Amino acid sequence: MAENIAKFKSGDLLLVIDVQKDFCPGGALAIAGGDEVVPVLNTWLATARDKGVPRYLSRDWHPKHHPSFEESGGKWPPHCIQDTDGARFHADLEVPLDAVIVTKGTRFDQDQNSAFDQTGLADWLHQQKIKRIFVGGLALDVCVLATVLDGQNAGFDMQLIASATRPVNAVDGRSAIEKMRRAGAGILEA
Ligand SMILES: [Zn+2]
Repeated sequence: MAENIAKFKSGDLLLVIDVQKDFCPGGALAIAGGDEVVPVLNTWLATARDKGVPRYLSRDWHPKHHPSFEESGGKWPPHCIQDTDGARFHADLEVPLDAVIVTKGTRFDQDQNSAFDQTGLADWLHQQKIKRIFVGGLALDVCVLATVLDGQNAGFDMQLIASATRPVNAVDGRSAIEKMRRAGAGILEA
């Protein structure tokens, strides 16, 4: 990991996806080992700060009734409802004061798994001359996957920090990594 962090350069960005309490053990949509990404990401966040690399954190931020919830015919139990405790970032995640927060999942008519989905983020980052984006967070097979694929499509060099993500289920997690590879994303195994 240290080796990969040391490669930070101008035009890089660190993007942390949805490290929120509801996605960690004890949360409404808990991912096994979800909290294990926190110390890894804290190291990346600290190093990015030291190297002057911008740090962006996305959050799932649903209205009380949301199409992704089972009650509305969606796939998931209610989670990350706006301003609830479960929607907070994990308590141990060292959220930088100067981090940029990307809010998604606010629409009443559809879900937004990707941090790039209708957020304007890709245009903004191109304007900021960002070329390469290191990504970690939750969940590997859902929002991280969607974000990496959208980022590649938008012309960024996406690099998954494999030690800084966990899947909802292991089979889909392996498949997600293959999809990312096929799309041209880098997979940092260390
Ligand atoms: Zn959600």
